[in-house]
Amino acid sequence: MFHKALSKVCDTCYLCCMQEKKGIAILGSTGSIGTQALEVFGSYQDKFDLQVLTANKNGDLLIQQAIKHRPNMVVIADEGQYTKVKDALWDHDIHVYAGSDAIAQVVESNEVHTVLTAMVGYAGLKPTLSAIRAKKNIALANKETLVVAGEIITKEAYENGVNIYPVDSEHSAIFQCLAGEFHNPIEKIYLTASGGPFRGFSTEQLSRVTKAQALKHPNWEMGAKITIDSASMMNKGLEVIEAKWLFNLRPEQIDVIVHPQSIVHSLVQFEDGSMKAQMGLPDMKLPIQYALTYPDRLKTDFPRFNFLDYPELTFEQPDKTTFTNLQLAYQALELKGTAACALNAANEVTVDAFLNERISFLDIARINAQTMNALPLVKTPSIEDYVNTDGEARRFANNLI
Ligand code: NDP
Repeated sequence: MFHKALSKVCDTCYLCCMQEKKGIAILGSTGSIGTQALEVFGSYQDKFDLQVLTANKNGDLLIQQAIKHRPNMVVIADEGQYTKVKDALWDHDIHVYAGSDAIAQVVESNEVHTVLTAMVGYAGLKPTLSAIRAKKNIALANKETLVVAGEIITKEAYENGVNIYPVDSEHSAIFQCLAGEFHNPIEKIYLTASGGPFRGFSTEQLSRVTKAQALKHPNWEMGAKITIDSASMMNKGLEVIEAKWLFNLRPEQIDVIVHPQSIVHSLVQFEDGSMKAQMGLPDMKLPIQYALTYPDRLKTDFPRFNFLDYPELTFEQPDKTTFTNLQLAYQALELKGTAACALNAANEVTVDAFLNERISFLDIARINAQTMNALPLVKTPSIEDYVNTDGEARRFANNLI
């Protein structure tokens, strides 16, 4: 979500911050997005001032990252690892904290200008809200935050004058297409989807797929949860909901098109019929960097796209009948209120169960649908309603496993 009215304020603020170095907090620094963000950070140490790194359980990597990148603070969510991290960093002048509440607190530090939310799942909601209330800009990778509570997050961001810069490659593509166009209404957007490892599979074929097959994404290397979401098309469903909140769109303005080469990262269609697309090789470092440096584009040595390597860019309709998770996301948008929160919670439970080989691949979408349809719908939820729905949906989905 980028406020037209705020763009001038943001640009001015951005310029002063670039002179001074921008204080960055990376929540989830030990994950796929977090480690790539640190690569970006390593290339532009004159632009950014690393303030915060956080992890869940991977204390060893957090320690290595802290010694190499020297943030002001680190947080390990798993309190059992506090002593290990603290001892390892005692002579490095780095403040060490533990627990999930500490993650939500460190983002409020005066030195933090932008918070990169690269944690996975519902756990990202609380620190994102806390950062927004402390008027920090958000570089948002953690799409689940907007899926769960998009209405409250965008409202609070607007009230606090906070910009939310997308990191997800599709939403970054839309954002890049909108640069210079913020006054022009969007007619429609097309989110591209690779189709994942099971593109073209029948339901019968899907009934036999394994965890190892589902974890092999054809184009992207990502954390386990989003890789399974990509295989089940839930990821695209979550992205549809994310796009609704980031760009203030109605569900019928958001279309999904399968593009197996992952070169066109998404498209915007304007009211005069013109379409803009953003293209490039699949590499998350580019959208991460753009979210941190907008409106500037910094020079990189990332490999360049060559047309001759891709003589054919192809597009096809997604199969929503076989991959029902995508349809479920549109249903959640139509239902509004807490429906998407229930769907997200069920999906976190089912993906975890699939990764632990407790359910089959097709069980993911089945249990997601049963949970979303069974949970009571709160039409105009408060944060407490989201928290309650998340808990109830997790219990319900777990009982189905
Ligand atoms: P990973 O699983 O690779 O990393 C997740 C990070 O979050 C790790 O640092 C992990 O710590 C931390 N974490 C996990 N659970 C908790 C918790 N309960 N409390 C605090 N920290 C926690 O995920 P990705 O990097 O793949 O994805 C992160 C987010 O970005 C997701 O929302 C995903 O949808 C989104 N995204 C990812 C893309 C990608 O290419 N990977 C592309 C677009 C969006 P630890 O290592 O200690 O477990």
